[in-house]
Amino acid sequence: MQVQYYALDLTCPICGQEKTVSIPESLFSEKKYGHIKIQVPQGAVCEDHVFVVFLDVKGRIIGYETVDLSITAPSEEIYEEEALETGILENFVRNLGFKCVAGLIHAKLFNYPMYLIVNKDSNINIVEINKILDETMPEQYKNKRILRTIEYNKNIIPTATYFYSLVKNQKKTAYLLNLRKHIIQTPWDTGYDLEKNFIASALGKEDKSEQLKFISFYISKFLEDVEKTKIIVEPIKKISGKDLVKKLKEIAITSTVTKTYVSFIKEFIRRKISPEIAKKIHD
Ligand SMILES: [Zn+2]
Repeated sequence: MQVQYYALDLTCPICGQEKTVSIPESLFSEKKYGHIKIQVPQGAVCEDHVFVVFLDVKGRIIGYETVDLSITAPSEEIYEEEALETGILENFVRNLGFKCVAGLIHAKLFNYPMYLIVNKDSNINIVEINKILDETMPEQYKNKRILRTIEYNKNIIPTATYFYSLVKNQKKTAYLLNLRKHIIQTPWDTGYDLEKNFIASALGKEDKSEQLKFISFYISKFLEDVEKTKIIVEPIKKISGKDLVKKLKEIAITSTVTKTYVSFIKEFIRRKISPEIAKKIHD
């Protein structure tokens, strides 16, 4: 008998790397209720991490769980890991998921409504989450969009993915995620690269107490490049993305002006400044 495979778009909850992985369909065919738990080995999605993905019986992702590798790590490493203090950003990413956090920063900066789906007995502090999110923002973006929660009651709707589809239907322009580090809806199509880079760079800073401030610093630089783009684009009729990359490279604050970077700038101009100016930038 031929084995049927099912393509699954997985995201590492720890570092945000993404990969499509084939899973044998037979995993789902035998189960009618509940969820399926698959341990994703190191190297399958990213080089460094082992994690667990939860699927419903139809093979749709419900969420992720991180696996504590320190159990199997050599004792010396455990000692070193414990000796280092965990930073707020590190903890934030660990609790909510790398890509989820990138999306929260994006939603806040680009002004999308955002909701975290929680259970009745979820032990989360939404005020604290919003406080940390605010700290990643430059002054003018603090306290603008806040993350709100939607409560999911398993007793009323037993299938989580069905509940998600109801929420999606109601909130078509919102960024939706759950506490299992899974993004349920992304209302923009530029992706997550900009914010993922911000987080990765900030996490690389040695002074952990300053990591959140670094993100707001990177955002400020991005906003300066938005202003520079405005100066280039405003007086002309239209410009191709490729030409804009070239022109921006001469005056930009960031050293890595790419097509992707420009697509984020265009999206920011469209949402926050002027759709007319954004329209002048074409592919
Ligand atoms: Zn990873």
